[in-house]
Amino acid sequence: MQAIQIRETGGPEVLELVDLPIPQPGPGQVLIRIEATGVNFVEIYFRKGVYKSALPFTPGSEAAGTVEELGPGVTGFAAGETVASTSVLGSYAEYALVPAAQLVKVPAGLAPEQAAAAMLQGMTAHYLAYSTFPLKAGDTALIHAGAGGVGLLLTQIVTRLGARAITTVSTSAKAELSREAGASNVILYTEQDFETEVKRLTDGKGVHVVYDSVGKTTFEKSLNCLRPRGLLALFGASSGPVPPFDLIQLSGKGSLFITRPTLWHYIATRSELEWRSGDVLGWVAKNELKLRTEHSYSLANAAQAQIDLEERKTTGKILLVP
Ligand code: NDP
Repeated sequence: MQAIQIRETGGPEVLELVDLPIPQPGPGQVLIRIEATGVNFVEIYFRKGVYKSALPFTPGSEAAGTVEELGPGVTGFAAGETVASTSVLGSYAEYALVPAAQLVKVPAGLAPEQAAAAMLQGMTAHYLAYSTFPLKAGDTALIHAGAGGVGLLLTQIVTRLGARAITTVSTSAKAELSREAGASNVILYTEQDFETEVKRLTDGKGVHVVYDSVGKTTFEKSLNCLRPRGLLALFGASSGPVPPFDLIQLSGKGSLFITRPTLWHYIATRSELEWRSGDVLGWVAKNELKLRTEHSYSLANAAQAQIDLEERKTTGKILLVP
């Protein structure tokens, strides 16, 4: 099978297209034939070696496809079914293994491309809005990178909960997309001071929660956008990691909360995985959650996909279609 392999960490050129044997499912595993792979920012951190993986490895964790073969002891799935997961063991490939415990069935009527586009970023948006800071109608949230993969989905979920979404984006074209997703106000954080704007838009009160995936360049001002006892969910570092931080500042800025959540702890049980994936895939199937999937690349072009994501050229979801 064709697969991307990383033999040493580095720039996009280390993503090599190679021929590898189709893996054999072990106990509890399912072999899937991948029809669409979701590209996520985290794979850039692994490629660069910021996050560690034993070498060589095939990157990627999100995909949808068809069940090809069940490993010993697996029940509940059958060959030919369309399935999806965010825990694929190397999804930049034509075939991959998935622990059955982390695999879900794709509802009828949903294409594998849609499932691959929705799973990881959709469940991330779901846990942020339902669990990290359970939003109520009338709450106000600030969402950075509002036209990004997570950003567009989170904005839609925030507004379907009756809360207000203020977003930041880098260009006016992205602002348009963010508005279409439901943002009440979009701030061009490359031109405007977002802290000043958020204060103005909330009559000086600040927001209940900031969902910050940008990190280094936004963190400090994100805290200043919160009302007393507000929460900063720092869930990414697209601009770089946040430097060490003196916790006493949380007191001075209004008894604030900070959390650094990650999806895996929010889908750790089968029931949470089924709740979040069921909601997200169900909403997409009913067209209540809209996906943006204009960026699709062949497996051989995986490097270009990561370059475009890193250079802020993309909006919505990026897919690799083997
Ligand atoms: P996005 O589509 O949001 O892409 C990143 C966006 O960040 C860019 O499009 C850009 O939007 C913005 N950005 C701001 N500054 C920079 C910079 N210096 N370099 C690059 N981008 C920048 O990616 P994803 O939706 O895939 O992921 C968003 C973030 O969320 C990532 O950091 C990812 O690791 C994280 N994440 C975390 C999860 C978790 O559970 N903790 C799960 C899923 C994702 P603009 O041009 O508008 O500024």
